[in-house]
Amino acid sequence: MIDATTIVDKMKNQKVNYDRVLHKMIQDWEKQAARPKILIHSCCAPCSTYTLEFLTEYADVTIFFANSNIHPESEYQRRVLVQKKFIDDFNENTGNTVDLIVDDYKPNEFVKMVIENNLTEEREGGARCSACFNMRLDLAAKEAVERGYDYFGSALTISPKKNSQLINQIGMDIQKIYDTNYLPSDFKKNSGYKRSVEMCKEYDVYRQCYCGCVFAAKQQGVDLKTINKEAKAYVAEHQDEIDF
Ligand code: SF4
Ligand code: SF4
Repeated sequence: MIDATTIVDKMKNQKVNYDRVLHKMIQDWEKQAARPKILIHSCCAPCSTYTLEFLTEYADVTIFFANSNIHPESEYQRRVLVQKKFIDDFNENTGNTVDLIVDDYKPNEFVKMVIENNLTEEREGGARCSACFNMRLDLAAKEAVERGYDYFGSALTISPKKNSQLINQIGMDIQKIYDTNYLPSDFKKNSGYKRSVEMCKEYDVYRQCYCGCVFAAKQQGVDLKTINKEAKAYVAEHQDEIDF
């Protein structure tokens, strides 16, 4: 399968348009009549909506939920359940067979990493988020190698609040240390973000009001007690769907 580096290296001295890189890679798959297996990291359903609609045209996609950054645990469980429900509904509506892999929840590892690197006071979008993207993309790369995926990537590039240049640079760096390929993207382009908002309405997808970690939630003044209460109620209502 084509490695993004061969395209990105030709774009030296210019800001890399990762959406263009992805489209060139797709052209290459089509030329070879290949349908790659892709593992896409997602931290809740909204970013996975249009990402799946777009990518499943060209590839077999699995969503990888690896988000020990999310606090509290009840909210983590709610986001897994909403992600699972969206995938089930999407498959039913489109005839696709998208899979979901849920990684173990290890919040202490995330908190330890943030404290040890002195990142607790970082603003959202700063160094703590770079470390957080790195941690989760690294897990995605490892999982992709273990399970034999052709590519690993991230749905987060659809969010206008996330720095997709940074996410792609981290992904490109991680691919250098694993025997798998990173799938660059900028899913917000081509009205991707707009379509994700529409799809959230169509599929009645819950949109959370904070990114996930306790540090950003506190900075933002999020009422975590209410979040915990609401999330617990949602999880209790969907108890029979929990198999993670
Ligand atoms: S970036 Fe935000 S909206 Fe997108 S998947 Fe992560 S938490 Fe959800
Ligand atoms: S704000 Fe979001 S991306 Fe940044 S560290 Fe917290 S959970 Fe991770």
